Amino acid sequence: MLVFNTVEDIQYHIYDLKSNGKTIGFVPTMGALHEGHLSLIRRSKAECDITVASIFVNPTQFNDQKDFDKYPRMNEADSQMLEKSGCDVLFLPDVVEMYQNSLLEVQPFDIGYLDTILEGAKRPGHYQGVATIVEKLFLSVLPDKVFMGLKDFQQVKVIEKLVRDKNMQIEIIGCPTLRETNGLAMSSRNMRLSEDGKQKASDIYQVLVYIKKHRTKDNPERVLAQAKEMIASKGYWNLEYLELRHAHDLSEIDMEQWQEGVNYVALYAGWLEGVRLIDNMSL
Ligand code: AMP
Repeated sequence: MLVFNTVEDIQYHIYDLKSNGKTIGFVPTMGALHEGHLSLIRRSKAECDITVASIFVNPTQFNDQKDFDKYPRMNEADSQMLEKSGCDVLFLPDVVEMYQNSLLEVQPFDIGYLDTILEGAKRPGHYQGVATIVEKLFLSVLPDKVFMGLKDFQQVKVIEKLVRDKNMQIEIIGCPTLRETNGLAMSSRNMRLSEDGKQKASDIYQVLVYIKKHRTKDNPERVLAQAKEMIASKGYWNLEYLELRHAHDLSEIDMEQWQEGVNYVALYAGWLEGVRLIDNMSL
């Protein structure tokens, strides 16, 4: 696996690959890799000639400095995992390389409605930071396809909009969420949970499955209320949201107009042991 630390070096290498007709698959990450990340690498390897991963803990997308400081960093172990998984190229820039100065300026990008709901509403500035770094990474790696986890469902929508609005010739591919055996969605943040916390965190999966199993076109509001009640009754969750939305654009649902055959998604965000966890499930 080749490792590049500068935009110039990786671009030079990618131009060379592209001039030889190679297709480039890209998996952007913030490191502390787990099987979920590796599933994206595998998918990229299956669909593209060359797979590039990046590891960059992006300061501008953390609306909470403490969260940024506490974010796990383990480049050595990550590189080994990537190498083993057959990743071809690792892009590992530092903050100065990506932002060129110490001001950490975000590029204003019109995220629109998606910035006003769910993660956008709860984490002001988060998606501006995400869009800024993702555009910089795309311009560095020049991918044909980008593999992103549907665990970050709203993020996939934001990046699809970025690519559309900027006329980038990049295909965004949303990939399924990998879970622990108890249903907990794999996440770098899970490392900060105690063993007991990891068990409790599987409540998220339980309520999402509950909603999926019990909702009919006549009762979505009631089932959602029951699911919230299940979480409240646990006593250890600080729930930020549990909502049902249209899957194609995350718009609100008129519960009276619930239809079979339409794609809906249930989305969850909550705090446990001081760790913010998100998950979702297609209904
Ligand atoms: P992160 O390092 O958390 O920024 O995640 C990098 C990429 O991995 C994003 O596209 C995430 O959505 C994706 N990802 C994170 N967790 C999972 C998971 N459990 N299953 C599949 N993809 C994931």
